Amino acid sequence: MRALPEAIENHALEGVLALRWPDGSVLRWTHGELRAACPCAECRARRRAGLAVGAAAGLRIAAIEAVGAYALNLAFDDGHGRGIFPFSMLARSD
Ligand SMILES: [Zn+2]
Repeated sequence: MRALPEAIENHALEGVLALRWPDGSVLRWTHGELRAACPCAECRARRRAGLAVGAAAGLRIAAIEAVGAYALNLAFDDGHGRGIFPFSMLARSD
């Protein structure tokens, strides 16, 4: 498992969340990618049922909160805010 990000930058205008890792790499997620990958129980159930978990064009992250030392809770401006995104997922290492 990778370490914690050293820096998390939210570029609200571009709609990009950038995470810098201890090895110097920087991963850039668009807010829409993150919304579509939301790992909450509701979104997982939708995917299991074959339904899309979509992101409206121009969707943005509305709030970012740390969950302990292992994850971020991301709330989106479509009103959806249940997703707990583990750093292992945000590092695309799982
Ligand atoms: Zn969700």
